[in-house]
Amino acid sequence: MPPTNAKTSQRPLVLLLLVLLGCGFLATSLASYHAALQSIRDNIVNTELPLTSDNVYSEIQKDLVRPILISSMMSRDTYVRDWVMAGEQDIEQMTRYLREVQEHYATVTSFFVSDKTHTYYQAKGVLKQVQEGESRDLWYFRVRDMQTPYEINVDVDMANQDRLTVFINYKVFDYAQRFIGATGVGLTVDAVVKLIDDYQQRYDRSVYFVDTTGRIVLTGATGGPMGAKVGQSLSEVAGLEDLMAKLPKPQSGNFEYQEHGRGHFLNVRFIPELDWYLFVDKHETGALAGIRQSLYINLLICLLVTAIVLSLVSIALRRYQTRITALATTDALTELPNRRGFDLLANQAIQEARREQSQLCALLLDLDNFKELNDTHGHLGGDEVLRGFARNLQSNLRQSDIICRWGGEEFILLLKNTPPEQARQLAEKIRQQTEHSRFAYSGASLHITTSIGLAELHADDTLNQLLARADRALYRAKQAGRNRLCEETA
Ligand code: GH3
Ligand code: MG
Ligand code: MG
Repeated sequence: MPPTNAKTSQRPLVLLLLVLLGCGFLATSLASYHAALQSIRDNIVNTELPLTSDNVYSEIQKDLVRPILISSMMSRDTYVRDWVMAGEQDIEQMTRYLREVQEHYATVTSFFVSDKTHTYYQAKGVLKQVQEGESRDLWYFRVRDMQTPYEINVDVDMANQDRLTVFINYKVFDYAQRFIGATGVGLTVDAVVKLIDDYQQRYDRSVYFVDTTGRIVLTGATGGPMGAKVGQSLSEVAGLEDLMAKLPKPQSGNFEYQEHGRGHFLNVRFIPELDWYLFVDKHETGALAGIRQSLYINLLICLLVTAIVLSLVSIALRRYQTRITALATTDALTELPNRRGFDLLANQAIQEARREQSQLCALLLDLDNFKELNDTHGHLGGDEVLRGFARNLQSNLRQSDIICRWGGEEFILLLKNTPPEQARQLAEKIRQQTEHSRFAYSGASLHITTSIGLAELHADDTLNQLLARADRALYRAKQAGRNRLCEETA
């Protein structure tokens, strides 16, 4: 079989293997990628973000919830109320009271604003008079008019170098439930902001607080989601526009959203004490980049393995095919080409001879009375003679000669570029060599002769016509008494 055919016959098998291996590897790579993706997602949503939220929440408890209790206590303090109702006589008494609160509870400020005199008292004395229309005093008038007993307001503290401060503003009533002022404490949220920044930097997640109207109320030093600032509404933040609609009543939950094609995981916790939401937000790009990279590495390895496997299979197939082809065209007993191997070479030689108008002769050889030899010495003895005869034949050949075990005890020699005279000499040499050869078998020395028919290639001869003439010559040699050479000239 020619090598090109071998290649073509391999192709469907190699393609099938390629498809099977490719699909298999692709399926397992994608399955493990998705499993890793899912487990990272689960880990982020169920563990990482809630843990961050828990930690920030407990810090907030310390920083914010305790001051609410202090402010509540101040608003109910009978001393404060009595002092106001008595006409705010001794300012020193009030400032001492506020100083006590501030020092004892370690707040950055403590204050009382009287509704009657609009005086802003604090630990160091009177700070100022609050005025309606003054933007820094807006908070007071808002507190005066609000329905709830207190509010938490993140603002800058005038008395404290304008640092970002959380004020707890509690309404104060007299014993007849008339509004007489606002009191409370202020504290810096440095500890919370530091914690938030720590999370943002170390764990690449964003932590911020949002009130129930969707306004961002507290962020780390670098701002909130996508750099949003305190005071901005979530409706101005890409991807979060519709989030508040999903929280019709204050509740906690996990959300996922897209911001400019980038996925985000969001853990939302409602903190009833503050009436704020705590948002912990992580974008997936950083978290998933690692496993995406391992997917690519995986696929690359699979590609390499597929290429190696296919190359090895292809080499092995080609080798086996060559071997099978050799086996199919070689005679097992004598190791000479068989009829199948001969046909191809012989036809090529005839075409060549025609094209080049060179002489070509065929010798057809048949061992004499071989049946008898088989009968006398057994089939294995006959085999030994066939092997020995084939060896002798081969030793007489030139590189260009074509030899074949035609079948049974018949052999063919095609002699390229050989005139009849030279063919005749060779045939005679073979005949004599055979006659004088002895083949050892099982202690016996076997002996055989051969009859040979010679024919020369005529113009327009086919291989069959040439061999038929050689066969006729051989027949005549047998008829003439065997162990001789006859020629078919006509
Ligand atoms: P002739 O001189 O007319 O050619 O007589 P012959 O006996 O050689 O011819 P015949 O065609 O009657 O017998 C050929 C024998 O060769 C018959 C067959 O059993 C034997 N033979 C064919 N192939 C093999 C083989 O591979 N091994 C052995 N040992 N014998 C074989
Ligand atoms: Mg025969
Ligand atoms: Mg014979």
